[in-house]
Order: sequence, then structure tokens, then C-alpha cells
Amino acid sequence: MAHIGIVGGGLMGCATALHLLEQGHSVTVLERDAGGLPASVGNAGILAVPEIDPLARPDMLLSVPKWLLDPLGPLTVRWQDLPALTPWLMKFLFSARPGKAAQSREAMLFLMRTAEADHVRLGALAGVSGHMRDTGALTVFDSVAARDKVFAHEAENARLIGHNVEKLDAGEARRRVPALKGAFAGAVFNDGYKIFEYPLTFLRRLQAALREREAFTDANVAAVGQRENGIAVRTEGGRKFIFDRLVVAAGVWSRRFVADLGLKVLLETERGYNTTFMNPSTVLDMPVFFSEHGFVATPFENALRIGGAVELASPDAPANYRRAAAMRRKMRRYVPDLQEEGGTEWMGRRPSTPDSIPVISLHPRDPRVAFAFGHGHLGLTLSATTGRHVARLVSGEDDSALAPFSIARFQ
Ligand SMILES: Cc1cc2nc3c(=O)[nH]c(=O)nc-3n(C[C@H](O)[C@H](O)[C@H](O)COP(=O)(O)OP(=O)(O)OC[C@H]3O[C@@H](n4cnc5c(N)ncnc54)[C@H](O)[C@@H]3O)c2cc1C
Repeated sequence: MAHIGIVGGGLMGCATALHLLEQGHSVTVLERDAGGLPASVGNAGILAVPEIDPLARPDMLLSVPKWLLDPLGPLTVRWQDLPALTPWLMKFLFSARPGKAAQSREAMLFLMRTAEADHVRLGALAGVSGHMRDTGALTVFDSVAARDKVFAHEAENARLIGHNVEKLDAGEARRRVPALKGAFAGAVFNDGYKIFEYPLTFLRRLQAALREREAFTDANVAAVGQRENGIAVRTEGGRKFIFDRLVVAAGVWSRRFVADLGLKVLLETERGYNTTFMNPSTVLDMPVFFSEHGFVATPFENALRIGGAVELASPDAPANYRRAAAMRRKMRRYVPDLQEEGGTEWMGRRPSTPDSIPVISLHPRDPRVAFAFGHGHLGLTLSATTGRHVARLVSGEDDSALAPFSIARFQ
């Protein structure tokens, strides 16, 4: 059995570590900020199995000009960062061609088919159960035409995975989620969505399970490199490790380690914002997507989280929390009773590839190294599946079904 290092203790790193431990390997997860709040803790907490469409697709491109007109809308670009973002954006456009988008959808469908079962299994590996709640989700629309278009497409996707979708008028939607007292034209209910327990709690439980097994350590990785006798890791504090194998699972920060290992990748941050109200006065009975405005509201036990949106920007650029306030303001059109005070704002970095397909891959020239990053909007949903696949790859199992996720596509 091998000693395997994992850079990054977010969802990808933890899910991979738990699977590798199960196979009998010795594992060390290196995490620089174990008390921090990365994407893995601030996300919307939704198991979003129905979402098999890549972001880069023809109809999405049609919406982009309208969205860009609103500086606090569903999509913005931080224009100072445009030069650095240009290669990613060019590839995004290229990936939106119908044929390519169809391939990406096929690849996502492959991962999504096992996502729920993989989470049940991951929970068992960490000693966690009952962490997903079967709620379904509602998407509300401002026009009947928009609802009907989305319904037709969601119904087609649902058939592929075995979910059900229903077209609802505003009255029926309000019966199911009474807090939706404002005006809207109709809704779509999709029973394929589930809610996780509070995302911070979920990640901390995975990390605790790893600490108990002495597989999680505090370390800020400065550099990694291939040596004859193993994969070397050096930390900012000057510690040195040599592992038999290494998994890079450091979210958007993975890109610097990809470069250390002699490879290229297009990985940028789609930054998202949200507000969390603890013990909220507004109760939602299920997650509600306001897709035309690019955000979602998720009810957790004792908390309500409202957020989403995409801000293409450098990971280190200052946060613009007016974006979180804009989503709260928009939500009051639909949920007039939403409280004004007492929420906590957060900004998080979705690690995103331009084709919306994560990197779940061995190094093409060095099978001692594996990659698990780039899950964009769907990393909570796909973390358990990714961990299972990466552990198999690291253990030497060959799987041609994982070819679409290879890092080779960026070389
Ligand atoms: C607003 C928002 C809402 C979302 N909602 C959902 C949702 O409802 N459902 C869903 O499926 N997904 C959702 N996501 C996406 C999901 O949260 C991410 O895809 C996922 O958390 C990415 O996990 P990760 O482990 O790859 O990266 P991260 O969570 O970023 O973790 C990477 C870890 O690596 C560590 N690290 C980085 N550099 C180093 C270093 N040098 N040394 C040591 N450690 C290092 C970091 O500290 C961090 O802990 C959402 C994301 C956002 C932003």
C-alpha cells in the first residue's frame, strides 16, 4: 500500500482521502486553512443531480449580453482582470458550440448518474448518515414562456436520469412554498434535487473523520515536484514530504501545482456571493431557484441561505458584497417578508474549467500524480463521485469512461 499526499482539504480532498483510506493506503491531507471558509463550506448545499447542462452552451451565450448590462446581475466580469481571463473566455466560447456542449452534457450525465449513491457511501466512510434531505426544488419564472421553455428541457433531462418534473401555475407553486407571496408567472418543480445538512457542518464532519485517522494535517503547500523516489512536497514553513503518490485537490489554487508538475490547465474562479440568516423568520419548504436572476435560496435546519451569481475575477480581487445585497433585494420581490437585518455575507470561489467539465485525471506522463478539481457550480454534488474515481485511478485501475475528464485536453 502507498503513502499518498493530498493537497487541499476541501470537499474534493476529503472525499478522495476517505476512499483511499478505505483501500488501505496511508493518506496525508495537507490543508493550509482548516478553519477557513472556502467554496466547500459556503455553497448552496444542494445535491443538484438534474444539472447536467454545461454552462458553455448556445442558449447561455444568448443571455450573456443582457446579463452583462446589469453590474450587479447574474453575470459580471471584473474588467481589470480581463487580460488574465481571456484564454479561459476564448475556450468557453469554443466549448459552447452545439456539438461540444452535447459532449459535455454526456460527460456530466455519466458523473451525475451515481452522485447520490456515492454520497451515501461517502457518508458511511465518514460515519455520517441522514445528511441529505429529499425535498425537490422549485424554479420560479417571471413569464409563462420562460417557464414552458425550461420545463420542456428539464423534462427531457429528467427522463435521462429518472426524475420527475411538473409545470405549476403561480397558485400551485405558492401552495407548496407559501412564503412566495410576490408576483410571478409560474414555476417548475423537479423532484431530483436534495438538500444537504449545513455545508460547514458536512465538511467539518469529513475533516474530523480524517483527523481521527491521523490523515489530516495543517500545512500550507509551497511547491510540489516529481523525483525519482516519489513526489516531493515543500511547505511554506519549510517542511518536506516525499509521497509515493500525490493528488492535487486545491480548488482554484490547484493551477500553480499543475504548473509545478509540468502541465497546463485553464482554471479560473467564478466567484459567487451569498447571505445566510441563522434562525430565519422566513421559512421555505424547499430550495427555490430564481434562475432568470441567477440565484437560489436554500433552507437548512435553522438557516436560510440566499445566493449565487457569477463574477469572473481574479481569486484575490476584493469582494463586492453589493452583489449579495442585490440578490436579497431581488428576492423580496417574490418573498416580501424576507428579513432586512441579521444576515452574514460571504464570497466564494468556484474552481471552474471553461467547458464545465471537472478534471478527474492522472498526470498523462506520471501515474503517481492525480488531479481532482474544476467542479465549478457542482462540486458538492460531485465530490463523492470524484473521490471514488480518483481513488480508483491512483490505485492503478484503468477507466476509459473517465477520458472526457482528463487533464490531457489542456496540453
Ligand atoms: C456561491 C456558491 C454556491 C455553490 N452551491 C453549490 C451547490 O449547491 N451544489 C454543488 O454541488 N456545488 C455548489 N457550489 C460549488 C462547490 O462549492 C465547489 O465546486 C466545491 O466546493 C469545490 O471544492 P474543492 O474541494 O475543489 O475546492 P475548495 O472548496 O476551494 O477547497 C480547496 C481547499 O484547498 C486548500 N488549499 C489551497 N491552496 C492550498 C495550499 N497551497 N496548501 C494547502 N491547502 C491549500 C484551500 O484552503 C481549500 O480548503 C457552490 C459554490 C459557490 C461559490
